[in-house]
Amino acid sequence: MKTLFGIPASQGIVIGKAFVYVENDFPEIPRYSIKKPQAEQELKRLENAIRDAMDDVRQLQERAVQEMSRDQAAIFEAHLMMLDDPDFQDQIKNRIETTLQNAEWVVFDTVRDIMKKMMESPDPLFRERAADINDVSKRVLDKLLSIKRVSLAVLERDIILVAHDLLPSEVLTMNKERVKGIVMDMGSNTSHTAILARAFNIPAVLGLSVATQEISSDNLLVIDGAAGTVYVDPEKKDLARYEQATVQYRKKLGEFLSTRDLPAETRDGYRVVLNANIEIPEEADEVSKFGAEGIGLYRSEFLFLNPGQTAEEEDQFQAYSRVLKAMRNKPVTIRTVDIGGDKIIRDFKVTADEKNPLLGWRAIRFSLAQPELFKTQLRAILRASVYGNVRIMFPLISGIEELEQARTRLEEAKDECRAKGQAFADAIKVGTMIEVPSAAMIADILARYSDFFSIGTNDLIQYSLAVDRGNERVSYLAQPFHPAVLRLIKKTIDAAHDADIKAAMCGELAGDPAAAAVLLGLGLDEFSMAASSIPHVKRIIRRATLHNCRDLAGELLRGTSATANAGLVKKWMAANFPEQTDGI
Ligand code: PEP
Ligand code: MG
Repeated sequence: MKTLFGIPASQGIVIGKAFVYVENDFPEIPRYSIKKPQAEQELKRLENAIRDAMDDVRQLQERAVQEMSRDQAAIFEAHLMMLDDPDFQDQIKNRIETTLQNAEWVVFDTVRDIMKKMMESPDPLFRERAADINDVSKRVLDKLLSIKRVSLAVLERDIILVAHDLLPSEVLTMNKERVKGIVMDMGSNTSHTAILARAFNIPAVLGLSVATQEISSDNLLVIDGAAGTVYVDPEKKDLARYEQATVQYRKKLGEFLSTRDLPAETRDGYRVVLNANIEIPEEADEVSKFGAEGIGLYRSEFLFLNPGQTAEEEDQFQAYSRVLKAMRNKPVTIRTVDIGGDKIIRDFKVTADEKNPLLGWRAIRFSLAQPELFKTQLRAILRASVYGNVRIMFPLISGIEELEQARTRLEEAKDECRAKGQAFADAIKVGTMIEVPSAAMIADILARYSDFFSIGTNDLIQYSLAVDRGNERVSYLAQPFHPAVLRLIKKTIDAAHDADIKAAMCGELAGDPAAAAVLLGLGLDEFSMAASSIPHVKRIIRRATLHNCRDLAGELLRGTSATANAGLVKKWMAANFPEQTDGI
């Protein structure tokens, strides 16, 4: 048996067969000239490739109807129509005949031109369709080049997915019933694969560096998501122990879930709010099961990251309304899109090739640069607001100008709704995410223009400690109890309270049971996390006293080193919660 150690990314213990997913990057497309008489042969190859690609899509579509959502089945329907489109086919055929070049090159070249035109279109629908054209053309190229690809959307058996890296779009579209666990070379606790794994309740260990080298498909794996451990081909005698651990884990989870209706209140009567983070609307149906009192962060960009899915005003309106209705008047905080950074689609880089995407055109910067796209989202939220209790929140604010501009766009969106006679709720709270150190430093100023704060520690830690949140090599430096991070959090919470507004946190730190006492002591009002973490955090809160937590936070704020602070928290937890470990 081999044991691999990685970053604990989504808790749970699971045993299953590995499936090593190697994403095939596209090979160089061959380009050569053909003689005129050969053109007919190339046309025939093209026709066969299109026919075979359509057969594959039809099969995917049939499966999707049975195994996935209607939205995903509709994507395949659209792809079939594109493949079957006579205009599309004629363009390629004509080019083969006139340029006398091989079919795969002409497909590649033609699609590149079509995509370029689509990307330049002012119509967002057209720009989104470019991703689909790219997708279907790849299917045709696969056939021409005899490449066989694996789709994570269609899996024959239950697997533990082992990959080098996964895109949010791949995690979104994979068959979640079949994927029982995720193991990855790349990634950290705050990378988007981790966030989605937690959202779908799939145990995950990331940042293993060597997983794809050390594991082969069909190895038996045991993964312990809370400890960050992967056991490869365990001995029979150990297997029984692991099986017992999975049973224990489920039992413990059942006990935790029974705290659903109990308040998140310390023993000395200090009440906080525990909310859920969601990435897709369907999650809203489940969060109450874990005791969520609202949605503290809806990462709306995932509507745009689903390949092939459109996010027109109407689609967005439907998605937001669905969440609001599911939450029945409990607060729902919709964060306007945070596209860019590491949230891109592999084949369709919305934010182009940037040298430093994490310091680049992402989040509010992306939205403010495209007022029509931004206002479309704001109108969709406004229109949905009549179905519940919505709050709007802006990501990655770095200075007052951005907040002012965003609020101006919101007022314009309201005027546009009024002009069309579309109703929306009167008093919608508008919050600012504090996730750039500059925002924390001027929290007192931002508080004047904000109805609440939500601290995004994933980015706040990334930017204050200069640690790429997705890079496993430097993840050891992403220390949440670093004195600098704690001071920024404290400054933000104090500024909120001085301005009489609430301080929430929706970064992954809010869902870490080991941080709950510290955050309580720092004065945090609302914690938002993956729904499945709520019972774990609530358990700590209900057994702590504010008094003790304040002492702990005070000591950490006076601390001089991140390592010493982490040690202190560990010691404190061991003394107060000796049976805290959830692992094997
Ligand atoms: C954060 O940065 O902490 C956050 C909640 O936003 P995201 O993880 O989506 O960047
Ligand atoms: Mg963020």
